[in-house]
Order: sequence, then C-alpha cells, then structure tokens
Amino acid sequence: MSGDGANTATVAEEEYLQSLFWLHEAGLPMTGANLSRAMQLSAPTVHEMIGRLERDGYITRASDRAISFTDSGVEHAEGIVRRHRLIERFLTDVLGVPWDEVHEEAERLEHAMSPVLEERMLAAIGDAKTCPHGHPIVAGARLAGVPLADVELGARVAVLRFENEAEDLLRYLKASGIEPGMEGVLAEREPSHVVLETVDGQRIALTTSVAETVSVTADPSPPPRTALPEQLVLGQRYGR
Ligand SMILES: [Zn+2]
Ligand SMILES: [Zn+2]
Repeated sequence: MSGDGANTATVAEEEYLQSLFWLHEAGLPMTGANLSRAMQLSAPTVHEMIGRLERDGYITRASDRAISFTDSGVEHAEGIVRRHRLIERFLTDVLGVPWDEVHEEAERLEHAMSPVLEERMLAAIGDAKTCPHGHPIVAGARLAGVPLADVELGARVAVLRFENEAEDLLRYLKASGIEPGMEGVLAEREPSHVVLETVDGQRIALTTSVAETVSVTADPSPPPRTALPEQLVLGQRYGR
C-alpha cells in the first residue's frame, strides 16, 4: 500500500492525516513533536509515519522540519475529517449512541464510506454543523476559543468543543455533566481544578489539565489559544 499516493492511503495514514488537520485547524505548528502530543504516541512511531506520508505525497517537510500538506494531502485530510465528524453526529442524533462512545465507532467506519452514503448521512443529520464534541463538519468553520483553564473567576462561559477525543477523556467529560453548547459562570479556580456553574445551577468540576482541552468563549476573555498538554491528568480512573 505505498507509492502512488492519493487513492491508496492506509487506515493508519488517514489517522495521522486527521490529527495533522486538527493541528492545522487549531493554528498550531504542524511538527512531529506536536503530532506525537496530539496523538499521545511516541516520537519514533510518529517519525516513521511522517516519512511514509511524505513518500506517499500527502505532506512535505521544510529544512526546519515544519510539515505542510500537499494539495492531495489537504484534500484527503479534509475528506476523512468531514466523514469522521459526520458519522459521529449521525450516530448520536439518529441512532442515539452516547457521545462518549461514537469516536471509536467513527474511526472504524470513516475509511470505508462511499460518497453516496455520505450524502445520505448528511441529509439525515438536518441542520447540525458540528460533531457532538463541537468540531465543524465542514472545514474552515471552526470558531476561535480559549481553554476553559485560562478563564478568570466570575467570567461568563459558553462551551465550544472538546479538543481531544481520547476515549477515557470523553468518558470523564461525559461523567462530569459538561456538554458543548452549555453556558455558565466560572465559579471556582484552583491550581488542581476548576468549577463551571451552569445557568441551571449544575456544578461541573474538571481537573485543570482536562480544562485545558475544553475550548470555550468567555466574557471577559483571555487571549485566544489552543492548548496541547503533554500529558492529560484525569481526576479519576476508569476500568479499575
Ligand atoms: Zn472523533
Ligand atoms: Zn467529535
């Protein structure tokens, strides 16, 4: 599965293209280091795949190691990201699958979807413009946000999206009660955690590390930024 580029991306290549696209969307430098943080994979693993993506014509690398998409690379990345987010929205809205379970399902389905099925799914989701975690289905529609962890005490907050869709992180967020679109006030801000009090009086506590990965709009607002923590610290462990 190598050599002639655009039509033969492997499943693994498509996973990397999606994470690269997220860096690109978020305005973060497309580098191996950022990619290995975003995917929580080791540097050598990521390095090898970057070499493959370059050989297959999806990316180029400058002498300073900065990565750029080729035309075929960006087209391919946009397509796979769009299908991923569309499938997630379809699974939650049409099939009723909880939003902390749809990411892994979409990863399995997104590589095998025909344009006809994509069109039908798009019709089935109605007006929805994002995946259930708040990421725009159509590239370029991403709203600027700030990490919830940056917001000052007392600021009014609206939850935009969950930047990282790691399985255990989504379970943690779901259990906390937070949802994209939710509005409230930052009620507590400690070194270890923050508390968001929603308009209907719910108190949502998140570790500061997790709050780095939750993008919001805030008033007053700190400067726009997308955080990329080296390691996530969850407040509790699952599956034990
Ligand atoms: Zn996802
Ligand atoms: Zn999503």
